[in-house]
Amino acid sequence: MWNAARKTYKHLPFTVQKALVDWYGRYIRRDRFGPEYEELSAFLERSERSDPEELRAYQESRLREIVRHAYETVPHYRDVMDERNLKPTDITGIEDLAKLPVLRKDDVRDAGDRLRSSAVRRTGLARAGTSATSGTPLQVYRDRPVSLMNHACYMRFRRWAGFPFGMPYATMQGRLVVPPQQRKPPFWRYNRSWNQIMFSTVHMSEGNLPLYVEKLREFGTQALESFPSCAYVLARYLENRDEYLPLSAVTTTGEPLLPPERDVIEDRFQTKVFDAYSTAERVVFSSECEQHEGHHLFSEYGVTEVVGDDGSPLSPGSTGLLVGTSLHNLGSPMIRYACGDVGALSERTCSCGRTLPMLDGLMSRIGDYVVTPDGRMIPSIMVSWSIKSISAVRQWRLTQESVDDIRMEIVKDEPIEQKELQSMMDYFSRRLGPDVRVHVERVPDIPRTAGGKVRHVISHVPLVWGDAPRSSGGSRSGPDAGSESGPDAEA
Ligand SMILES: [Zn+2]
Repeated sequence: MWNAARKTYKHLPFTVQKALVDWYGRYIRRDRFGPEYEELSAFLERSERSDPEELRAYQESRLREIVRHAYETVPHYRDVMDERNLKPTDITGIEDLAKLPVLRKDDVRDAGDRLRSSAVRRTGLARAGTSATSGTPLQVYRDRPVSLMNHACYMRFRRWAGFPFGMPYATMQGRLVVPPQQRKPPFWRYNRSWNQIMFSTVHMSEGNLPLYVEKLREFGTQALESFPSCAYVLARYLENRDEYLPLSAVTTTGEPLLPPERDVIEDRFQTKVFDAYSTAERVVFSSECEQHEGHHLFSEYGVTEVVGDDGSPLSPGSTGLLVGTSLHNLGSPMIRYACGDVGALSERTCSCGRTLPMLDGLMSRIGDYVVTPDGRMIPSIMVSWSIKSISAVRQWRLTQESVDDIRMEIVKDEPIEQKELQSMMDYFSRRLGPDVRVHVERVPDIPRTAGGKVRHVISHVPLVWGDAPRSSGGSRSGPDAGSESGPDAEA
């Protein structure tokens, strides 16, 4: 019913859209906040401070069940394990996962329905869209238990952020709430049973932003749940008008949060930003706690590994591909799924006292790196420092066409001073090497992806993980990754 409604949503009259959003909100609220939620929530509240050994035992017992279930009911995994002469009893702990191959996006596309369990009714599964390496759409299945777990984890994140259910909040994320072709307000819809106002992320033009801010104030918004780029666009708008919009919490997810963006958002909304990471495939979930010392991995959700190109696990501190195994999706088990992002496991502990492990690294999508002619990878987070120094730049995007050719698109509020431009070019030259050409182009807008996100760096140069050549100044992981080239160092 909802799938059909979603397809026709944008063609429906405004009043019907309004009613549909409200109805869907009530439906999801009933579905997500039942007794199962209470139980999961209580479990998550206990387990975040439990003995690490206990957490591991929980993960491994779920893992054994998932592997057995996958072997018995999922054709793709039956084949994969038979080919390797593996039986479910060969996978008893997390270390044994390396006996299984990494599941890449292209494998998911090729496997199609063979990744679905024959033991779970198809009607009980939700389909979620993501995209393959080539950018072609990819369908993955999610069952009800994994959706409930995801919701409970998300509410844990909100608990950490001091953003309980019922607090009036605004959302600026990928959901298409207002048809893109609509030219006149309202560019928002209400979901009253959640006390939520949902804004369109594709109408945030200079001309419409005053309406956004006015509506945020009128609604009594106390929290903002947003893609980093949307919160940043709003914060920059407030900054230009020398205004503030004090909130209790800002949560970001969906795109890498760049430190310069965080600074402006925290300043204008007068609160801390809490960043979270999760994937449409529901294999990895992590977020910051109130100490902001990096992301905690939600171990109850899945097993997260960091691997090199050959699929072998890397030691803590090494940056590699993030690979996640869902501990809850029996409908379509995802085992060792490479979600396309990168990070590094950490042995640090957080001063909050929670025992959930820490995840370092930059979380960028693989493409969000500039590759230098000598094989180094410069994360978008590093590039952002040089661009932050130019106050006129509102949005930007780098496209690396080839290893020595970069196109930089910028949306700017006012002319850029020659001195600032030169300092940025000097930065690129130092970082990337003197042979890399950077062309700056002024554009009216940076287009968002189909999911409403902004990718700051798009590189068409292939990367190698695991044993990639790295010289000093190359890709590093860790909470201090930005500090080496922080604004002070580059000013
Ligand atoms: Zn913590």
